[in-house]
Amino acid sequence: MHITILTIFPEMFTSFLSESMIGRAIAQGLLTVDCVDLRPFSDRKHKNTDDDPFGGGAGMVMLAQPIVSAMESVAPGGEGARRIFLSPRGETLTQRKAESLAKEAHLVLLCGHYEGVDQRAIDLCIDEELSIGDYVLTGGEPAAMVLVDCIARLVPGVLGCADSAVDESFSSGLLEYPQYTRPRVFQGLSVPEVLLNGNHAEIVKWRRREALRITRERRPDLLAGVELTEAERGMMAEWDAENDER
Ligand code: SAH
Repeated sequence: MHITILTIFPEMFTSFLSESMIGRAIAQGLLTVDCVDLRPFSDRKHKNTDDDPFGGGAGMVMLAQPIVSAMESVAPGGEGARRIFLSPRGETLTQRKAESLAKEAHLVLLCGHYEGVDQRAIDLCIDEELSIGDYVLTGGEPAAMVLVDCIARLVPGVLGCADSAVDESFSSGLLEYPQYTRPRVFQGLSVPEVLLNGNHAEIVKWRRREALRITRERRPDLLAGVELTEAERGMMAEWDAENDER
């Protein structure tokens, strides 16, 4: 998978791309990420990349020209690339969306700044707008990092163990069950007995039950998209009845 990031602050990505899992994935060649500085693409004398908004108002707007020129240089005609503008107006990123983007060969991510980007750049060379949530950042760089991080861990080989991406929060449609590691007792709190006895079937059952319990408590909206067995439906009904009694 190849990702190109168009930004006026390429240095912001230096440690993000060199440390931890992302750093390792890049070192192993599972992922290539290029940060392309928009400034050199500006045809203005002082290489500006923004100007005042037509119609007035606060803040600056990023010029269309450097963006369109940079885009043409990294993905001519948009061939073979999915060109994404990180923007609070976009579709909200979800695990499903990340899974579908992880199948693309080349992603180009445009990071906005200031008040935003001249609409004509979006009209001319963006395939879709993507938001990382209902809040506003000062720039698209942190959003691009969130997207790269979330997609990278879905690229085969990036996570240590092939199935560690399978049964975690959101992949199964449920939030994740609680995790424990050594020691068995910490500050008087013990690890649930079932996790210590080596009975794999019991452990799977306990984890599924805990995932259902936590999802029901915190994000009941997610349950609508989850297939439940007859027994699980019964268990949930019992929990509901217990709740009603209280
Ligand atoms: N005036 C704009 C906000 C500009 S914020 C508006 O009201 O929509 C500056 C830049 O930060 C945006 O161009 C975008 O690239 C990025 N950004 C801000 N919030 C974001 C979010 N929730 N998701 C993705 N990108 C975001």
